[in-house]
Amino acid sequence: GPVMCGRWCFRCLWRGISSSTMKFLLAFDFDYTLIDENSDTWIVKCAPEEKLPIGIKSSYKKGHWTEYMGRVFIYLGDNGVKEAEMKRTMTTIPFTTGMTDLLGFIGMNKELFDCIIISDSNTVFIDWILRAGNFHRVFDEVFTNPATFSDTGYLTVQNFHNHSCAECPKNLCKRKVLEEFVDKQLQQGVNYTQIVYIGDGGNDLCPVKFLKKNDTAMPRQGYTLEKLISQMSQDLSPIECSVLVWSSGIEILSYLKILVKE
Ligand SMILES: [Mg+2]
Ligand SMILES: [Zn+2]
Repeated sequence: GPVMCGRWCFRCLWRGISSSTMKFLLAFDFDYTLIDENSDTWIVKCAPEEKLPIGIKSSYKKGHWTEYMGRVFIYLGDNGVKEAEMKRTMTTIPFTTGMTDLLGFIGMNKELFDCIIISDSNTVFIDWILRAGNFHRVFDEVFTNPATFSDTGYLTVQNFHNHSCAECPKNLCKRKVLEEFVDKQLQQGVNYTQIVYIGDGGNDLCPVKFLKKNDTAMPRQGYTLEKLISQMSQDLSPIECSVLVWSSGIEILSYLKILVKE
């Protein structure tokens, strides 16, 4: 039957009326979570001698990653790197251990799981990689910086949105994305039994702080997010949700199997 959501009371009431089915939201980061690399770094393999000139490397300003990647793509375009070569290079990125098994399981149980990606990569890279692995149908939505090839064959990328969060990079607050998605779903009568957030990075902390008691944060073992979460509990301001550390997609898969049996 319906489970009290631990959020606003009227939402629980709404859930009781609109739906008594169990549905989980799985929110994934992309770089170093689904794939075992940083896609924005991997594209440098397409550059002459597989490296960037110092002028570009030193032009990065904290919080302005998208603009920086824009300059990287112009450099690649100026050096004659075409879409086909980029695609060939990007689709060799390995998935993180166990992730293909995990995505296969989710794909076969879509009636139980909604699944989204919230990433600071871009639409072109993520689309290539998901399609190459035949996993694009596993995901209901991908929230990331919109990218496109220009008429002259250059890859261009824009900020995902504007936000007023002081903790996040200028182009993307993953908490805002998650919050808006959950609200949109609620308006359509979908109230999640539980949210599971799977990530590794510093920009995954903001959405994790949005999670409530019933939800689960799954930080990758040994990566920044895990360290930030344990720092918060040492500072005696622990996050509200449960925390489960993972090092392979198989561990996440085992957890999901337990969840759906409850
Ligand atoms: Mg990441
Ligand atoms: Zn934020």
